[in-house]
Amino acid sequence: MFRDWRSAIKWLLLAFSLLVILGLLLGELAAVLALGMGAYIIYTLFQLRRLHRWLSTGQSVSRAPPPETFGLWGFIYDGIYHIQRRERKALEHLKNIIDKAQDSTAALEIAVVMIDSKGRLEWWNPAAEKLLGLITPKDKNQLLTNLIREPRFLDYFQKETYVTPLQLPSPVDNRLMLEYQITRFGEGERLILIRDISQLHRLEMMRKDFVANVSHELRTPITVITGYLETLLDQKESIASRWIKPIEQMYQQSRRMENIIRDLLTLSQLETKSVSRQQTSISVASFLREIKTDAEQLFPEKNHRINIECEDDCELAGNISELYSAISNLVFNAAKYTQNEGLIILRCIPAGNPPTIEVIDNGPGIAAHHIPRLTERFYRVDESRSTDTGGTGLGLAIVKHVLARHSANLVIASTLGKGSHFTCQFPAERLHPARRENKIAQKSASIQ
Ligand code: ADP
Repeated sequence: MFRDWRSAIKWLLLAFSLLVILGLLLGELAAVLALGMGAYIIYTLFQLRRLHRWLSTGQSVSRAPPPETFGLWGFIYDGIYHIQRRERKALEHLKNIIDKAQDSTAALEIAVVMIDSKGRLEWWNPAAEKLLGLITPKDKNQLLTNLIREPRFLDYFQKETYVTPLQLPSPVDNRLMLEYQITRFGEGERLILIRDISQLHRLEMMRKDFVANVSHELRTPITVITGYLETLLDQKESIASRWIKPIEQMYQQSRRMENIIRDLLTLSQLETKSVSRQQTSISVASFLREIKTDAEQLFPEKNHRINIECEDDCELAGNISELYSAISNLVFNAAKYTQNEGLIILRCIPAGNPPTIEVIDNGPGIAAHHIPRLTERFYRVDESRSTDTGGTGLGLAIVKHVLARHSANLVIASTLGKGSHFTCQFPAERLHPARRENKIAQKSASIQ
């Protein structure tokens, strides 16, 4: 570049010197210089006009090489031409990348939908047309919530964060089961991935049906066997003494099997029954008192101190028999595993954030590495400990399911040798201090 500048300046100086010599020879220095300057300005204007025409002839001609010229102007033309070619190549490269991305998303079986910050459809791939029935380009800029009107989807879509995916039948074909996973990006935009999980869903349904059917079919034979064994044990004197121990063991095992079948049936009902819309509100204090009495009756020999820390005026709303089964499972576990004379606390914090019902014991505790797996079916910390106490390994799985059906969470904390702390975190609309209108109703009822 410098070389071009230098030679341009050299040429200018040479022309200027020639003009000066010519001017001096002719004795008209000023006129010759003015003429020379005029000619240079005209040449420059001419080149500017060519440049302007070349640039303004548009995209198609700009691809043509620039007008032939020499010197500094030639250098400027070439420079612009090179920049244009470089940009064109970069554009082509980008276009290729976009084409490839579009081709690959078009070939995807997973539907991909992009939603703008106002919740309107911005872009989708062909799989989204098949799974969600989107029409290209008619549905562009439509609100997604106008096209998928299922209330569960609306709740999910309006969430701030999307931790777990949502499963719903397809809006165009309810035989298809879809899994929605939403991710936020950019400034409030969302990317939705939708997978067809019909096959998986069918297998899952088959598994649930199988467990439910097997448990149901086994219930009657086991009840009959347990009944007969119980009758036999009631008449020990008529049985040869060498048979007593085996019959006692058979009885013990058949009771265990009965418990497992009962818990499996409960679990499969929790999995298959949809959450009932009918919700009842009860007083937590009396609910906990009832569970305490049941625990004391179940384990009378253990002599536990069971304390209830709960204000009289807090309420819990939901399916009460399910909630009883969840909280009582925690309390019976505490009673089962805590040594004689142990302390068990049933606590309710209705104004907490989140509101909680807690079951605390000073029993043997659970090692940290077991805690994440405790709610898995048949997971037991200590096989012999559970078998001795008649455990099925299904109790905490039931607790987790019931709580999930009430939009609640189970948090487990425990220290070996010190005890365990099970916390059920409820949403405030389910567990709260008694509402004012209820209190007034209760008061007026007590006055009457
Ligand atoms: P199980 O019917 O065997 O009690 P659960 O699912 O209710 O099954 O509990 C899983 C395991 O967690 C139990 O086997 C037991 O070892 C452990 N566990 C549960 N609650 C307690 C507790 N309060 N203290 C100590 N261990 C507990």
